[in-house]
Amino acid sequence: MKVYNFSAGPAMLPEDVMLKAQEEFCDYLGTQSGILELSHRGPQFMEVLAMAKQNIRDLMNINDDYEICFIQGGASMQFCMIPMNFLTADAVADYADSGTWSTKAIKEAQLFGKVNVVGSSKETNYDRIPVVRHWKPSEDAAYLHITSNNTIAGTQYHTFPPVKEGVPMIADMSSDFMSRVIDINDFGMVYGGAQKNLGPSGVALVIIRKDLAARGAKNIPTMLRYKTYIDKDSMFNTPPTFAIYLLKMVTDWMREQGGLAVIEEINNIKSEGLYELMDGSGFYRSPVSPGSRSKMNIVFRLPTEELEAKFLKEAAVNGMSGLKGHRSVGGIRASIYNAMPLAGVEKLIDFMLQFEKDNG
Ligand code: PMP
Repeated sequence: MKVYNFSAGPAMLPEDVMLKAQEEFCDYLGTQSGILELSHRGPQFMEVLAMAKQNIRDLMNINDDYEICFIQGGASMQFCMIPMNFLTADAVADYADSGTWSTKAIKEAQLFGKVNVVGSSKETNYDRIPVVRHWKPSEDAAYLHITSNNTIAGTQYHTFPPVKEGVPMIADMSSDFMSRVIDINDFGMVYGGAQKNLGPSGVALVIIRKDLAARGAKNIPTMLRYKTYIDKDSMFNTPPTFAIYLLKMVTDWMREQGGLAVIEEINNIKSEGLYELMDGSGFYRSPVSPGSRSKMNIVFRLPTEELEAKFLKEAAVNGMSGLKGHRSVGGIRASIYNAMPLAGVEKLIDFMLQFEKDNG
């Protein structure tokens, strides 16, 4: 039986990519070495790096004002690199607090300077994106930081907040990176851990405006300066070659699908199916405010925790894994990133309807 993995990340990758990686594992393009074994300065890997960057540039329509960087340490490393580069002790950075990951980003920034929380949905258990018209931005923020999709709470920005002229918006897109069309010109920088939509864990994809990177602090370690990654093409040290190779293949796959507009359309269909089911059911309940619902992480509750435990057990028996909600909030979470096929979501929907019939 085919198992569909609904894990929040690391998450399933496109099957074709996994199979191709397997095929090439011990012999990359006739070299009789795997890409893991080849020098990062050799022609094979240099080409992989260039193609990964070109794929991302083309798919996201990124102009030459921006650079594409691969940085180790996952998204969490970015939580400290951002303030380290752009927030001085006498300055203030604006942060929107939309859940666990925003809170972690805020905590790191507070080590370097002042943080102004422009808006928070903490009081309503992060059931929505903080209402933008109530935000209180600073007069002269070094930057504004948002989390575009909240993996645990299951919320997502459907429009991005306006920012004052000259204030760069920085977005943690870990859990909705390249799942939809965005205009990169709205941002100074976007970043995310790769392990949901893009590839393996441990590497962050960072897309940053070059003039912003150039303004970064100089008195910080070389490895933690964005400018280093731009000047050295992410090759100041040995980059995570296998992760970049997989990212190249995942972005090849995205191109084959028809690009981000097509992928976005499929993601809309997948998430709408699940929300429609919930809205028409007295059994399943979405705790998320309708205007803020995530298209990537669909969280829901059943009438009791006992039923939730039974649901998870039976789902696993029926070939659906990784559906347990984050340990901090409980409930059920179906993570349906780009690589989750429509068939996987349809299977989940059928199972949910049957489970409701049997237990409702
Ligand atoms: N931001 C968001 C929105 C996330 O979902 C996660 C991981 N689940 C992180 C940051 C942290 O990523 P990493 O583990 O790569 O540091």
